[in-house]
Amino acid sequence: MIEKREFYIGGRWVSPATPNDLPVIDPSTEEPCAVISLGSEADTNAAVAAAKEAFPSWAFTAPAKRREYVEKILANYEARQEELARAISLEMGAPIDFARNSQAPCLPWHLKNFLTAFDSFEFLRPLGQHAPNDRIALEPVGVVGLITPWNWPMNQVTLKVIPALLAGCTMVLKPSELAPLSSLLFAEFVHDAGVPPGVFNLVNGDGPGVGSQLSGHKDVDMISFTGSTRAGAAITKNAADTFKRVCLELGGKGANLVFADADEKAVKRGVMHCFNNSGQSCNAPTRMLVERPIYDQAVEIAREVAENRKVASAHEPGNHIGPVVSEAQYNKIQGLIEKGIAEGARLVAGGLGRPEGLNRGYFVRPTVFADVTNEMTIAREEVFGPVLSIIPFDTEEEAVAIANDTIYGLTNYVQSQDGERRNRLARRLRSGMVEMNGQSRAAGSPFGGVKASGRAREGGHWGIEEFLDVKAISGWAAE
Ligand code: NAD
Repeated sequence: MIEKREFYIGGRWVSPATPNDLPVIDPSTEEPCAVISLGSEADTNAAVAAAKEAFPSWAFTAPAKRREYVEKILANYEARQEELARAISLEMGAPIDFARNSQAPCLPWHLKNFLTAFDSFEFLRPLGQHAPNDRIALEPVGVVGLITPWNWPMNQVTLKVIPALLAGCTMVLKPSELAPLSSLLFAEFVHDAGVPPGVFNLVNGDGPGVGSQLSGHKDVDMISFTGSTRAGAAITKNAADTFKRVCLELGGKGANLVFADADEKAVKRGVMHCFNNSGQSCNAPTRMLVERPIYDQAVEIAREVAENRKVASAHEPGNHIGPVVSEAQYNKIQGLIEKGIAEGARLVAGGLGRPEGLNRGYFVRPTVFADVTNEMTIAREEVFGPVLSIIPFDTEEEAVAIANDTIYGLTNYVQSQDGERRNRLARRLRSGMVEMNGQSRAAGSPFGGVKASGRAREGGHWGIEEFLDVKAISGWAAE
């Protein structure tokens, strides 16, 4: 059992004001694997006070100096990446090879992209040639509260902490109470990089506790949040009285439009993507919209892929999928599968209960529903498990209407060999991101959505801007 009860406040590891133990459960075994403490208001206040004290000096640290600290965080990651992969695998059930190859490497990937953007970032810019004495200064927002989920724990921590540091903000990180171990290790990377005391603080806690204390705190200037749409709304309301900037990265119900002229691997690729990370990604393509002429064939391919997708313990090597994160998520997914059946969708693979041979652990059967209508609960709600809904369509118009008929708007996908159609659809789909023919977005591309997916933009240049306020200056002396 790993004991991690301390918080990182003001450059030191400190004991909670009032101990309040919470076990961390290994989702592969349902056994406690670690114990943390949940913070109280006194801990939140201490962390915010440390960040507030550190702000004036950090905000005016030379950008080159801030870059040096971030480079040192990268070096510390590189020396300890295996530990980080193991922590992620244990806390949220990512199979160990997936944790090594996909989850942990999110840290260096985003960090390097931020450094590239930072190197050409102008913190002081002219307004325009017409106004020689005007300047636009981009200045750090202040003390920021960073609240992260469990599904891609290091991805989300990196997407918030690194740009906040580069922008000159000071911060309090509250990682998910379900997956706190990787963040505690990350705090060691920051500490060992020599980042000045108070610039980065970490307090463990839950939503009603530390999460709400941060979103309502008078000395916190901004909340950057990734997680459920429910919590995003609660945070926005709680932050209103103190006029915080609130940046939200919430759920999704991505549509994957597969046309009859799609490449032959498109359906398989879409199903695999939906099941990736056991379906626990906000940008998962969970609604596969298939053009009628290839519909039966697509359903058959999806059935085959699901039946052959191995599910096993996160501790086993290999490219299988692992459990979902918790008993609550397991039960929620089972409930949604039940609803799918009750509302008349055709179950073609998977279904209720655990996969054969697995009696313990939060393992879900890779599940495919066909003949889904966009009104069914499984097409409307985020399942956050390995569950795919297939919906037929006859015309491009109809496909666009179905894709856009959702409260969410994070990522949509298009599979077609017709370039003109792809370009047309890229503009018509209402989402923050559109990915086509299996091509991922390139380095520095902003991640974020519209509508109930939240309107944050994370990563690269836009990710740094999130943590900056715009100041308009006139009467600037010629240099
Ligand atoms: P959640 O939103 O409850 O938790 C995410 C983070 O927010 C955690 O750190 C949690 O402690 C904190 N939090 C919760 N309520 C809060 C509040 N009122 N104020 C401040 N902080 C609060 O998400 P969850 O319960 O871990 O997962 C539930 C659902 O959220 C999932 O089924 C999925 O739909 C969605 N989700 C989305 C993403 C994403 O990347 N978009 C990530 C995780 C979860």
